[in-house]
Amino acid sequence: MNPFQYVRAHDIAEAIHAAAGDGAKFIAGGTNLIDLMKENVEHPTKLVDITHLPLDRIEATAGGGLRIGALVRNSDAAYDERIASRYPLLASAILAGASAQLRNAATTGGNLLQRTRCCYFYDTATPCNKRSPGSGCGAIGGFNRMHAILGVSEHCIATHPSDMCVALAALDAQVHVSGPDGERVIPFHEFHRLPGDTPQIDTSLRPGELITAVELPAEAFTQHYTYLKIRDRLSYAFALVSVAVALRIDGGRVAEARLALGGVAHKPWRDHTVEELLVGQAPVEPIFARAADAVLRGAKGQGHNDFKIGLARRAIVRALKQAAADTPQSQSEKRVA
Ligand code: SF4
Repeated sequence: MNPFQYVRAHDIAEAIHAAAGDGAKFIAGGTNLIDLMKENVEHPTKLVDITHLPLDRIEATAGGGLRIGALVRNSDAAYDERIASRYPLLASAILAGASAQLRNAATTGGNLLQRTRCCYFYDTATPCNKRSPGSGCGAIGGFNRMHAILGVSEHCIATHPSDMCVALAALDAQVHVSGPDGERVIPFHEFHRLPGDTPQIDTSLRPGELITAVELPAEAFTQHYTYLKIRDRLSYAFALVSVAVALRIDGGRVAEARLALGGVAHKPWRDHTVEELLVGQAPVEPIFARAADAVLRGAKGQGHNDFKIGLARRAIVRALKQAAADTPQSQSEKRVA
């Protein structure tokens, strides 16, 4: 058993003050951190309970977007009328994740901070550079069916497990944080990191910083969108490959394209050069196939996960076709169309 101190914070300043120093962790929904503590992967010396902070609201922004408080539960976000109607890509991605019970407990901020589900990361009897820097990587040369095909390093080939974050990446969300040095805003694509030679660091958060909100811009892509998730079973399974697509089509041509992948890299994977290739093109399968090839040009399998390259290619093409045809993937019916 690892003893730890428990502190309940009542405002943001108190939470940040309580979390100063090594070993402290914020706790809210606890759907990942508590598991990691039970598995002896995380050993916080102090848990700062932030569930009483006033961060559980969804509010309109002056710029026409929405600000989702860090403590808004995943279910509350997905079923919020403004998100469901104005940001259906986000609602769909949230509902594709985890189970109803977990979505009722998990928070917006916690979803961004969940850690990889690499089985070696959870197994303290095996080497893992993310859990124990310098110990090696059990997945390289091991069982790596769920692992990354893009952006890997020789130190880590883990994937980021979130569905919600894939949609947030496609929507160009921003992450609001508060910390010992004040407040700042992090563009979503800069929030999560690739592993490089420091795979133990998942995000660009500085020590002691607390996520306070996620902001959605006014551009919502309500017509041409889809979140396609390919997984081993149709509920409560992490993505083998997922694809978030948002298109603006004008006069029979793609005027704007957003394409983000989940289940393939250490962070939600977005390639702006490929999105630019789509602009000005007709929304037809040969163009989408070329875009998929371009996204995957640097993809590399690790053995067991080689199949993901072909799977990702087909999923990208299908998601683009669904979005272009206004036939988004249904999460409530769980059909794989
Ligand atoms: Fe650890 Fe990353 Fe290797 Fe998994 S892939 S064992 S998380 S270093």
